[in-house]
Amino acid sequence: MRNDPKNLVVVGQGAAGLAAALAAAQAGLGAVKVTLVDKAAEDEAGGNTRWSPSYMRMAAVDRVEPSFVHDMLAATQYRGDETYFARLAREAPATCQWIAAQGVEFIQPTYYLAKGPPRIQPLGGGPAVVKQLVLAAKKAKVEFRYGCAARAIVRTGDRITGLDVEQGGKHETLAADAIILCSGGFEGDGAKMREHFGDGAEVMRLISPGGKFNTGDGIAMAMTLGASGSGDWNGMHAEPVDARSNNSAPVVLVYPYGIVVDKNGKRFFDEGGGLVHETWEWFARDMQFKTQDRVAFAILDSRLLAIDGYQRAIRSEVPPVGADTLNELAALIGVDVGGLAETVAVYNAACTGDPAKFDATRCDGLKAAGKLNPPKSNWARAISQPPFLAYPLVGAVAYTFGGLATDERARVLREDRAIPGLYAAGEITGHFYATAPNAVSVLRAFVFGRIAGLEAVSFLRAGQG
Ligand SMILES: Cc1cc2nc3c(=O)[nH]c(=O)nc-3n(C[C@H](O)[C@H](O)[C@H](O)COP(=O)(O)OP(=O)(O)OC[C@H]3O[C@@H](n4cnc5c(N)ncnc54)[C@H](O)[C@@H]3O)c2cc1C
Repeated sequence: MRNDPKNLVVVGQGAAGLAAALAAAQAGLGAVKVTLVDKAAEDEAGGNTRWSPSYMRMAAVDRVEPSFVHDMLAATQYRGDETYFARLAREAPATCQWIAAQGVEFIQPTYYLAKGPPRIQPLGGGPAVVKQLVLAAKKAKVEFRYGCAARAIVRTGDRITGLDVEQGGKHETLAADAIILCSGGFEGDGAKMREHFGDGAEVMRLISPGGKFNTGDGIAMAMTLGASGSGDWNGMHAEPVDARSNNSAPVVLVYPYGIVVDKNGKRFFDEGGGLVHETWEWFARDMQFKTQDRVAFAILDSRLLAIDGYQRAIRSEVPPVGADTLNELAALIGVDVGGLAETVAVYNAACTGDPAKFDATRCDGLKAAGKLNPPKSNWARAISQPPFLAYPLVGAVAYTFGGLATDERARVLREDRAIPGLYAAGEITGHFYATAPNAVSVLRAFVFGRIAGLEAVSFLRAGQG
């Protein structure tokens, strides 16, 4: 094999693709030539990973919580593949330690405001980890090609023999004995978004610029070979962001501590229905698909400013709109003045609990009384202390759930059988249903990217490619 290096092509330079390429190059020891292609130019490559803080759901670098697999299955409403999540839990510590060994430091971050599962984070977040892994991969002799879009998988009989790519308007076929697809979901393709989520999805804002390259190309290429789908095709991870900001991911996650209204000044969901990471997806989707002009307004009062560390939950650079009266506020943000006044009056009257019990960091049980509709299940304090504050919000998509079926060895499946030489990892794979398990997308991209890299090398060493 040493005289005849096999060719492995990895598609996509996010967490999954970098882990795959690096693991393969390190394990291949020159017997496998690894090429990584990314559709984006070098300074834009890195997909969503590059824009993500990359919180990872681990108790520490060397362990996950004992309830990890159960929590994953619960998040998928028990539709997820237990074998897949069990492998994720088993491999996560070794994978994180391997990433650390490439020069990435992990810290235990302070999260937004609400507490949740424990998380670790690469120091410097996604940009730092992408930069470091690119350096490590270059050192391991991975060849990078930017502005190079994968278009089709070439096969001879049942064997993969190449990858059609397009670069600078020119098409060519790269020799490939195995391929690892890590090209993300389909959030960047308006037509596919509309096909799966319905009217209005095609204009949904991307939470970060990285998502625009993830147009479902890898999913389509593998499905042409008969690959099966998996995950929730009506599922996406979305969050509320400041409608006025042009920054990446300007999330505003203080809405549970006030109310949210539409342009008519009416509430439309339970803002306190759970910790913020338990409600943000549905809130963002409701805004996008159910509210007039696809916009809503978080309404708060000056008590927001007294919440310890409240700034951590606001990543917009634009200050809130402020006014001394609610009527003035409504006029400033273009919300029906009478509608907002009535909503706040009804809401305030239902806030009969003891405000001293308010605790922003957990579900505090301070719920609105009576038949407030929709209810407010936690953090129900009257909005009464000027200045009154408002954030105009829209929903923004981070990534989609529907993708390729893969097994716990990162092999792409066609009706439960592996397609020889074809692997996939990260967002491109299905596995998520209903709601995104918090802080798992980057972790699983790294874990299954590395597994894919190692599996592809074993496949090629065994002379199967
Ligand atoms: C703002 C933001 C915050 C987030 N925060 C977190 C968090 O804290 N924790 C967490 O777990 N997850 C988080 N996520 C989600 C997470 O970052 C992503 O789901 C994950 O990084 C995806 O990794 P990936 O390698 O699968 O894909 P990506 O990182 O998206 O990489 C895909 C790559 O494929 C390339 N590509 C696409 N099509 C082609 C093609 N045809 N040919 C060649 N290349 C192609 C793209 O250019 C891109 O570089 C966040 C996402 C965003 C946007």
